[in-house]
Amino acid sequence: MKEMQLPPDLHLDTLAVRAGIERSQYGENSEALYLTSSFVQPDAASAARRFAQEEEGYVYSRVANPTVSAMEIRLAALEGTEAAIATSSGMAAILLLGMGLLRAGDHVVCSQSVFGSTIKLFSGEFSKFGIETTYVSQTDPVAWAAAMRPNTKLLFAETPTNPLTDLCDIQALADIAHAGGALLAVDNCFCSPALQQPKRFGADFIIHSGTKYLDGQGRVLAGAICCDKRYVDQVFLPITRTAGMVLSPFNAWVVLKGMETLSIRMQAQCQSALALATWLQQQPQVAHVYYPGLPSHPQHALAMRQQSGLGGAVVSFDMVATSVEQARANAFHVIDSTQVCSITTNLGDTKTTIAHPATTSHGRLTEAQRQAAGIGQGLVRVAVGLENIEDLKADLARGLGSLKVPL
Ligand SMILES: *Cc1c(COP(=O)(O)O)cnc(C)c1O
Repeated sequence: MKEMQLPPDLHLDTLAVRAGIERSQYGENSEALYLTSSFVQPDAASAARRFAQEEEGYVYSRVANPTVSAMEIRLAALEGTEAAIATSSGMAAILLLGMGLLRAGDHVVCSQSVFGSTIKLFSGEFSKFGIETTYVSQTDPVAWAAAMRPNTKLLFAETPTNPLTDLCDIQALADIAHAGGALLAVDNCFCSPALQQPKRFGADFIIHSGTKYLDGQGRVLAGAICCDKRYVDQVFLPITRTAGMVLSPFNAWVVLKGMETLSIRMQAQCQSALALATWLQQQPQVAHVYYPGLPSHPQHALAMRQQSGLGGAVVSFDMVATSVEQARANAFHVIDSTQVCSITTNLGDTKTTIAHPATTSHGRLTEAQRQAAGIGQGLVRVAVGLENIEDLKADLARGLGSLKVPL
């Protein structure tokens, strides 16, 4: 097999369909799927050299697999990093990050608004191994700087947040991390490299759940860390080949093919999300719309700078209501009146999804924690897909239109 040589300085859309191609002897145009657990060795001496890592060559898919390698090369090309390492899910990528970088006695500073399972991983699992995490405001770099300690090894951020679309300034956090001798990891699930390349703003590690926009069609779980090659070779690969949280070749192939349409999907989904957010703002039954693409978003300027001028494809809104009970009833009514949207918490799909965060993704929080996070009972989250925008507006208008607006 021979890796295709590409000219330098190609654009992201080109890399998304061309990077990482290694054609076999058959010259297939679409990437082959190497669904095999092990690889036959030419002879015993070659096997010995390959197992001793003295010679290149595939031996076993827990160590490396050509389809998984192709997906890693393509994703690294899109993120503008030297390398990437794929994992079985997005959470496995964060587990790998922690296992690779942290030791007992280390300290982590993390946004308080990251994905719920990320908080459970840091507080519920890593704490068992003597790693302490301090949670700080998503939007206030001063709070991040104040939380730094001599033993702080890692800053962990996600931008924009789910479901309220708060941003953090990646460049500011990278500067704080590096000034304190720490490293910055950014979960780039919500924007994907089509909108935001955290490496350009100084992030050391970019985390992906390939489950979301990279696959883009809601089919598989996948994850990855994008970073310098020395971290992949010396820190992460020794862990995955031993601990085994590797990506299946089949799932890698699905994500590899999904990435080919990433840019065009993201452009279309962001465009519809902006149209939907603008329309929602005009509805009397809607109290507030959360969307970074709206000029009224408090961090609109940062979003435009950091996210290639696009707001992303997730829009949340609060219902007008006079009580908590009415807020929840109104939100449920709007969700249940849809006939096109899927009622599910997943996102990053071509199919638009609609969810009630307070009773689903954030249902395990106490009411006080939810209130502190700003996630009310009247909040509805829509992850906009590829359906026609007029059909999506009509789908939400069904429920909104039949609600009485309180005086
Ligand atoms: C879904 C998600 C994850 C976890 O990814 P899985 O592939 O489901 O393990 C992590 N971070 C963010 C922001 C996510 O949306």
